[in-house]
Amino acid sequence: MSQPSATLPEIRRKVERRERISPADALLLWREASDPEMRALASQVRARFHAPGSCTYLLMRIVNTTNVCVAQCDYCAFYTLPEQAGGYVLTEQQIFAKLDELLALGGDLAGFNGGFNPQLTIDHYCNLVRAIRARYGDRIELYAFTIAEFMYLADHASLSYAAAAERLKQAGVRWITGGGSEILTEDFRRRHSKFKYTVAQFFQAQAAIAAAGLRTTATMVIGFDESIEERIEHLDRTRRFQDETGAQESFLCWTFKPWATPLGAQLGNIEITSAEYLRHLALSRIYLDNIPRIRTSVLTQNERALEGLLYGADDFDIPIEDEVTQKAGATISLNFDKILNVARSLGFEPAYRPVALQQPATIP
Ligand code: SF4
Repeated sequence: MSQPSATLPEIRRKVERRERISPADALLLWREASDPEMRALASQVRARFHAPGSCTYLLMRIVNTTNVCVAQCDYCAFYTLPEQAGGYVLTEQQIFAKLDELLALGGDLAGFNGGFNPQLTIDHYCNLVRAIRARYGDRIELYAFTIAEFMYLADHASLSYAAAAERLKQAGVRWITGGGSEILTEDFRRRHSKFKYTVAQFFQAQAAIAAAGLRTTATMVIGFDESIEERIEHLDRTRRFQDETGAQESFLCWTFKPWATPLGAQLGNIEITSAEYLRHLALSRIYLDNIPRIRTSVLTQNERALEGLLYGADDFDIPIEDEVTQKAGATISLNFDKILNVARSLGFEPAYRPVALQQPATIP
């Protein structure tokens, strides 16, 4: 990263004039701006897209379809290797039961997330999506795969990303979201998930997903051992991809839960503070000037996540299940009113955002 060419007051003026900040500016902001200053700048950028006091939320669940995975990421407490005991693949009926429960609780979004399971083909998933569409129609929307799972399915079927995206679309898939990105630097992936995909491949796959007319999102996870420079590189790659495609409907960042993971044991099972998370949310809002919807993570930050609305976020989801993060220490509350009341106490009125009917957020 080049040396900063702007001072803090100059960067502040850039943001006020709606000028884009550089990676070097972002680094200087991170190092020198106070928390109240980050919050104020992020709120200024937020106000370009959202009225003060407004915010939206979803009620959703992650459906972990299989825990069998060959990727062996060292930050994961969820997976079981194919030859090990304890592996599972949810049946269609088990998945329907989870979706029924979600509907009964008032939710309408299921994010599917499983491992790289060599036994499960792309046709298996196409059949599953068809069965869900037949049973639920548009009452439930699916974040059907993460980009990482999509890449594995395509490779496993010897299909190009374009052909795989088309096949899934024909089966009823509408969304393949940014999960599996963690930190998008090649070095981070070599350190922690060498059997996953490279950053270059990740964006090739996401470009094919967008070109097929499927909808997608950007995500990020912080709190491993990544440097500030790596976080900024991730934001910069995300912003550049958005400049090229306009395809990422939202940006969601959450935090690494270390418990029961090999990396967590190595790092002393320490989580970053909520204050650091909120500061990163602010930086993300300021940097990602081309993504209108910035989401804060109730799943990993619980009620503190709502403070993210003061640091540039405008949207959050209330999850009722995610085995991957729960196994690594995340806790979930079904007291939805309590969560919504925290947002209200901070001066925001949360409005439910039905994903199935939702139009893409636009840049004014
Ligand atoms: S994070 Fe995902 S891809 Fe990596 S080991 Fe866990 S289940 Fe597999």
